[in-house]
Amino acid sequence: MNEAKNRKENWQGMNWIRQEKRLAIYMRDGLSCCYCGEAVEQGATLALDHVKPVAKGGCNHHSNLVTACTRCNLSKNARSVRKFAQATAEYLNHGITAEQILAHVRQQTRKALPMAEAKALIASRGSAAKALAAARNK
Ligand SMILES: [Zn+2]
Repeated sequence: MNEAKNRKENWQGMNWIRQEKRLAIYMRDGLSCCYCGEAVEQGATLALDHVKPVAKGGCNHHSNLVTACTRCNLSKNARSVRKFAQATAEYLNHGITAEQILAHVRQQTRKALPMAEAKALIASRGSAAKALAAARNK
């Protein structure tokens, strides 16, 4: 009946974004967290993070979405990307600056999504989870 309303109410689940778009964003970002740099090979569990938080009007466009490890995703919460980059630089404490983290986020969000590659990988592997496993073993 009211499709837009239903979509909005259901958006918090894992399917608020199409699986191939989720995978394409992970692939665009090199299967690693855009904030702390942790990669799946290092044990990171990937999630999508809204650069501009939804609570502050951020949208689901790929230019507002980056790959984040679950730790960064949960700790960023509704903080601004600038504040969170500062906190992450302090937490990491290995010479990387908040400006470098912000520059990386900006650079990633401007890239085109490898949608065709993500779709092909899902089609050949049977599911997004299997495709992700295949992508990380590449
Ligand atoms: Zn992280």
